[in-house]
Amino acid sequence: MKVAIIGGGIAGLATAAHLIQQGVQVEVYEQCIVPSKVGMGFIMLSNGLQMLQELDLLAKAKKLGHPTHFFSLKNPTGTTILETPLEDALTMMRYDLIDLLQRKLPKSVVKFNHQFESFEYGKNKKLVAANFTNGNSVKADIFLAADGRASKVRTVVFPKRTLYEIREKEIVGVLKDKDLAAHFGEGFMKVISPDGGLSLGIVPAGNHRLIWYLQFDTQKYTSPSKEASKIKQFVLDRIRDWQAPIPALIEKTTVNKIHLWPIALLKNGFEQFYQANLLLLGDAAHPLSTLTSQGVNSALEDASQLAYLFAKFKLKDKPEYLENVFKKFQQVRLPILEEYERQGAVLLEKFLAPFESIDDFQIPLGNNKKNLILK
Ligand SMILES: Cc1cc2nc3c(=O)[nH]c(=O)nc-3n(C[C@H](O)[C@H](O)[C@H](O)COP(=O)(O)OP(=O)(O)OC[C@H]3O[C@@H](n4cnc5c(N)ncnc54)[C@H](O)[C@@H]3O)c2cc1C
Repeated sequence: MKVAIIGGGIAGLATAAHLIQQGVQVEVYEQCIVPSKVGMGFIMLSNGLQMLQELDLLAKAKKLGHPTHFFSLKNPTGTTILETPLEDALTMMRYDLIDLLQRKLPKSVVKFNHQFESFEYGKNKKLVAANFTNGNSVKADIFLAADGRASKVRTVVFPKRTLYEIREKEIVGVLKDKDLAAHFGEGFMKVISPDGGLSLGIVPAGNHRLIWYLQFDTQKYTSPSKEASKIKQFVLDRIRDWQAPIPALIEKTTVNKIHLWPIALLKNGFEQFYQANLLLLGDAAHPLSTLTSQGVNSALEDASQLAYLFAKFKLKDKPEYLENVFKKFQQVRLPILEEYERQGAVLLEKFLAPFESIDDFQIPLGNNKKNLILK
């Protein structure tokens, strides 16, 4: 039995690592020509960390990442509104996590320069082969699509599932600066505009690095064009009067380390994750609001849950159980992901509204429960 995974991001690589541990024949097809160094970072929460532990990668992740011990909420003049300890939160650069997962796999597993284009079909909507823009065609028994939020696989197989951009956009930046890193310390800080619809998060990522992200309401503030210098200027204009050293943090970030990120969700929610011998995973299946911080964590959960079901149904030797595996995966994962989706909607509503009371505030870290995997 051969499993072809389309997309070598977090979900694709983690799934490959789990399945290879079970002796399943897996190949990952990734569009990047070489391992990607792109991306900023994310906060790994207890559910994601638990999934790394299952892959025996937690100790290494802790060495590469940076523990985030507390959360503080401030207003633009610097007054602290709330401060609370955080349990089990680790900030990681995306490329460190990608590298960690890639190293878990034999080198030949990930086939770079493979951008998925189309499928060839057999009977009953069963996929027989995946075609790539480099001219290669790959046959497999099971296809897993982990090609991210704008998934080409999803648009080919489920053309009616379209994305829409939400009102909130993010501009993310990263910089390395010893003094600023020392100033902002160990905690995740969020500064919110009392008028609503504008906030700046600052997260230390270790090694004197700081990741910051400006979230803004596109109905209140016209989004800048994609030109890097305009994006930076947009951020500076929003936080110019905020307490020092916030303006310096933005000033010191080079324009090539600043990225504008529109957030697109599925118009009709998540629906079915599978069809015949194809299953969608991670952002391809369930793009989530970044306000939940569950993108990476839920991708790791998907990988672990699927691997568990593969083993439980002994799918390697009993391919006739594929539908049972996919059905059970859907049954277990959908309610959990719909809860993240609901939390994303609540967080968005609160973000857009003026800040009135701390009682209404919700720490923007979604659900941080443990043991979400059915075992
Ligand atoms: C370049 C990049 C940078 C990111 N930076 C951040 C960040 O700084 N902070 C954050 O919170 N989240 C970031 N994300 C998103 C985050 O990684 C995901 O939300 C989360 O990890 C879920 O993982 P995923 O594997 O489902 O999707 P992703 O991590 O998005 O992985 C999808 C993978 O599929 C590949 N792919 C896409 N289309 C095709 C195709 N047609 N054929 C073959 N391969 C394809 C992509 O190159 C990518 O490697 C980034 C994603 C990408 C792709």
